[in-house]
This record gives sequence, C-alpha cells and structure tokens, in this order.
Amino acid sequence: MTVESPRLNRRHAVYAGSFDPLSLGHLEVIRRGGELFDRVTVAIGINPAKSPLFSHQERLTIIREVVAPFPKVDVACFEGLAVNFLRSIGAGVMLRGLRTLTDIESEFTMTLANHALDPEIETVFLMASEGYSHISSSLIKQVALLGQDGQEHSLAKFVPPAVITALRQKLKSRPVGSALPG
Ligand code: ADP
Repeated sequence: MTVESPRLNRRHAVYAGSFDPLSLGHLEVIRRGGELFDRVTVAIGINPAKSPLFSHQERLTIIREVVAPFPKVDVACFEGLAVNFLRSIGAGVMLRGLRTLTDIESEFTMTLANHALDPEIETVFLMASEGYSHISSSLIKQVALLGQDGQEHSLAKFVPPAVITALRQKLKSRPVGSALPG
C-alpha cells in the first residue's frame, strides 16, 4: 500500500538556521525571499549539542521584532531535521543564503542530503548581496565580545538595531572571561 504524502506548497519557503544572532545578511535573504514567495518562515533550529549565545526563545523574540515590518514573514523554532519541519508545516521550499565558495561546498552537500531525505522539497539559494557576504554570526559575536566601548558603530554594519540592544544586554550579564560560544 502506498501512503499519499500531502502536497507541499511551493510558494511557502522556510529559511532555517541558527541565527545566533540574526545579521543584516540574514535579513537581506529574508527580505528578498519575501519578494519571491507568498510566505517565508524563518525557522530557528534548536540544537541541544550547541550552546548558543542567545536561547532559542530570545532569538525568537528578537527576530519577530526585526521582521515585524514584513507581512509575509513569520518566525518559528524547530527541533530535529529541517526537512521534517518543512513537511510538518506544508512548506515546499528550503531557502538558503550563499556567501562564499566554502558555503557552496557545504550547502551543496546539505542539499543533496535533504533531497535524499525528502525529494519533494526544493532548495533555492540566494547569493549574498555585495557588502553582506563577509558577515557571519561568529564574526558578530567576536566584535561584540572583544571590541571596545565605542566600537558599537561597527556592529551597526553587521546587525539590525534590535540585535545591538540584545547583545549589549547579554554581554552585561555574562561573567568576565567566559568562553565565546561558536
Ligand atoms: P547555520 O548555523 O546553519 O550556518 P546560519 O544562521 O549561520 O545557520 O545561516 C543560515 C543560512 O543563512 C545559511 O544558508 C547561510 O549560508 C546563510 N547566511 C548566513 N550569513 C549570511 C549572509 N551574511 N548573507 C547571506 N546569507 C547568509
């Protein structure tokens, strides 16, 4: 007996990642995704093996605030495989951003794995815009943690204002000398 799988919506894309924290590069992918699809869900992956700087609840709150002006965009958290999350909400497209040649290699492998897991899900890549391709969440954490007072204007080149506020609060409450999360 074959089990009919419910149809997936190819107009609904999911942009999954860690977003620890959300960068201007991520935001640019979200904004452009909103121009291509009817709906974009930003999906924050909960990985119990990682110790992020921001909890998934904190990331959910921050990202919801930042994407509030985009009517087609919603935000959720998920555990487990991204393809399973897409199927659970009926989304047919995995949206990814590409920055560098190194990204292409790892994204290619991930796309092949996702295709093997669920061939009905299509992956769509958006090239990072000029000016955003060097931005990564780990760079942001390094600048925030190791930069000096007065270097906050540099952070504004990498993250939206809500993330600067959240970083400021988070770093105030961290013990001095504590390790930098990945
Ligand atoms: P992960 O921890 O899985 O790498 P990230 O949150 O860092 O997740 O990234 C999620 C997606 O966003 C990935 O497809 C990544 O390549 C893409 N991305 C990350 N930073 C940028 C950027 N500056 N510009 C465009 N895409 C980006």
